[in-house]
Amino acid sequence: MKAAYFAEHGGPEKIIYGDFADPVPQPGEAVVRVAACALNHVDLLLLDGRFPPPQGLPHVNGCEVAGTVETAGPGCEPHARGERVIVFPGFACGRCEYCLRGERTVCLNYGYLGAHRDGGYAELVKVPADNLLPLDGGISFEQGAALPMAMLTSWHALVAQARLAPGQTVLVHAAGSGVGSAAIQIARLAGARAIATAGSDDKLELARSLGAEAAINYRKQDFVEEVRRLTGRRGVDVVLEHIGAETFERSIYCLSRLGTLVTVGSHASHWGRMDLRHVYSKNLRIVGSNLGTLTELRAVLRFVKEGRLRPVVDRVFALSEAAEALRYLLERRNLGKLLLVP
Ligand SMILES: [Zn+2]
Repeated sequence: MKAAYFAEHGGPEKIIYGDFADPVPQPGEAVVRVAACALNHVDLLLLDGRFPPPQGLPHVNGCEVAGTVETAGPGCEPHARGERVIVFPGFACGRCEYCLRGERTVCLNYGYLGAHRDGGYAELVKVPADNLLPLDGGISFEQGAALPMAMLTSWHALVAQARLAPGQTVLVHAAGSGVGSAAIQIARLAGARAIATAGSDDKLELARSLGAEAAINYRKQDFVEEVRRLTGRRGVDVVLEHIGAETFERSIYCLSRLGTLVTVGSHASHWGRMDLRHVYSKNLRIVGSNLGTLTELRAVLRFVKEGRLRPVVDRVFALSEAAEALRYLLERRNLGKLLLVP
């Protein structure tokens, strides 16, 4: 098969588009013919070595895949060749203490497609059959590939972890990102009000078009001051944080009493300070959230099919242009998701 892989760490120029060994499925694994694969920020970390692929090099990136079942061997029932599917991107062992408690997202042996095993920057990818979800004909492959990480992460963070309720207000950072654009829509679906931040006018416009009540340009405005102004100095009930560093610290100041900050990533820095006085005197909650569950992804798919959630796709590249797509991502030029199509 053809794949866009890398054999040494570095920038997008390290991506090689060429022949790669076809995946050989074990019992319980299916091979999916990739119709579309989305790019993620983690792809850059895997490539440059900040998060070296645990299985070593060469490595094929790609966490989010939609396609058709190519091979479904023993243990893959009820899936059959030709079925349209998306791949649930997280793998759990099913045996550790946390899996047995039903909390598979914190499995001791958790792994991601495209990180802990070769992913979808390829014509074919092998995955555990348990990770396959039927993709309704009403949802395109491009839409299907654009939602498993971002939509699911935002859903689990806001609905399950932050317990966002109707009438509440949520601050969503980086409206132009997959997580941000999903979170604005999910907040609206939950009957909540969304305030978004972004660093450019087109991203602010996207935020408003997705239903954000207000959009703050964090390059031109102090987002803490703006949140205070927009909420009559009360603050927001929930902040969805995935930047880290100063954004994390200052997000704490945006919370109302009893508010919740839910963190799902650390794209700028893995570190964030906080003034503990705000946390204890206002009874704040700081919670982490990692991906989500298969059941939640099914719920997301239903809303996408009904047109009530819309994965935002910026641009589709050919698989052979993977290096160019990664450069585009690195330069943060994207407004929504970037996709590769073999
Ligand atoms: Zn486990």
